[in-house]
Amino acid sequence: RSGRSAALRARMEERLLGARFRYLNQQLYTGSSRDAARLFRADPAAFHLYHRGFERQVRRWPERPVQRIVRYLRRRPASLVVADFGCGDCTLAASVRNHVHCFDLVPLSPRVTVCDMAKVPLSAESVDVAVFCLALMGTNLQEILGEANRVLKLGGTLIVAEVASRFEDTSAFLKAMTQLGFRTVSKDFSSSYFYLLEFAKTGPPRPGPAPGLRLRPCLYKRR
Ligand code: SAH
Repeated sequence: RSGRSAALRARMEERLLGARFRYLNQQLYTGSSRDAARLFRADPAAFHLYHRGFERQVRRWPERPVQRIVRYLRRRPASLVVADFGCGDCTLAASVRNHVHCFDLVPLSPRVTVCDMAKVPLSAESVDVAVFCLALMGTNLQEILGEANRVLKLGGTLIVAEVASRFEDTSAFLKAMTQLGFRTVSKDFSSSYFYLLEFAKTGPPRPGPAPGLRLRPCLYKRR
């Protein structure tokens, strides 16, 4: 009997965690990056819960996008300086020889610099590669990508890995990226889970709205 009630209790807890994860996830995708920073600052436990949920989700995928970015960086000189926006548990920094600046809202690892990715403590044109691996979450995408543009050197690389179903109109998105000062270098749509995009910085963003810069929120289904 007690075995059965323990199992029931575990199942209930699992359900509750799932529900809280989906709720937090929805908040991250439907608010600005500043709202996200406020949310997690007020409730660090929510952040850890979010990460457990995130881990459970990506474990179902045949391949983690961060591993693709690791392979990409290993093919390029280790002298390149990298900024990892929304680094999570710092898998990227732990897997390459490059100097990687790790930014996230709460430190899952001592390597993390805690900040909102819309405003990172790096000087202008100081990095060679900027990475957003499943991390373009806030609604202020233009501001966030503008920050990546600011810290990147001219000709520097921007890597975006995002959930495939978030893209409404890929060509409109890539066109908007041109306006933000990024030329498309390569696009990999081969995984049905995520898209992997590589850009080069052509210059500062052109002022004005970039209407094509839209990503759907990534809302996970209840399982
Ligand atoms: N890049 C990691 C983690 C992806 S999960 C990986 O691929 O494994 C998305 C990460 O972005 C989370 O750790 C989340 O806390 C972070 N994030 C979301 N909004 C942020 C913001 N405004 N500033 C900094 N980090 C943010």
